[in-house]
Amino acid sequence: MYRIFIWLFGRSIYQQMFTIIQNKYPNDNLAKQVVPILPNKLGSLFLRIAKFFSGTPSNYSITVTLGKVILSEPIHSYYISRIACHEFTHVKQMQQYGLIHWFLIYLVDYIDNLVRYKDRKKAYFNIPFEIAARSHEND
Ligand SMILES: [Zn+2]
Repeated sequence: MYRIFIWLFGRSIYQQMFTIIQNKYPNDNLAKQVVPILPNKLGSLFLRIAKFFSGTPSNYSITVTLGKVILSEPIHSYYISRIACHEFTHVKQMQQYGLIHWFLIYLVDYIDNLVRYKDRKKAYFNIPFEIAARSHEND
């Protein structure tokens, strides 16, 4: 499925994402280290779990950052710039806090929001790390 999508819509979205991050953040050393990739089987499973908890419809593409690795399902080129900036903000957050510490804060905020809103999508949307990442989408 992914292979057909990439064949149709361009196999270079990962290269484009990398280039956009270099261009948007030329003085950021971390920008040179990001690795946007198409997830393998294990990565795809991880994305499916993330999709469930974020309340994202299964037919929507999702992108998740782990450290400096940006796992992305194929996305339309129209969204690449926004997503690249969003995910690079997460890369910076994870560097700042450390991956485990970042994840624990993220998880606690998510659970807190889930109790408050009783809605996975709202819970995800209102995580402070996500609000911060969204504020950088038009960098
Ligand atoms: Zn995010």
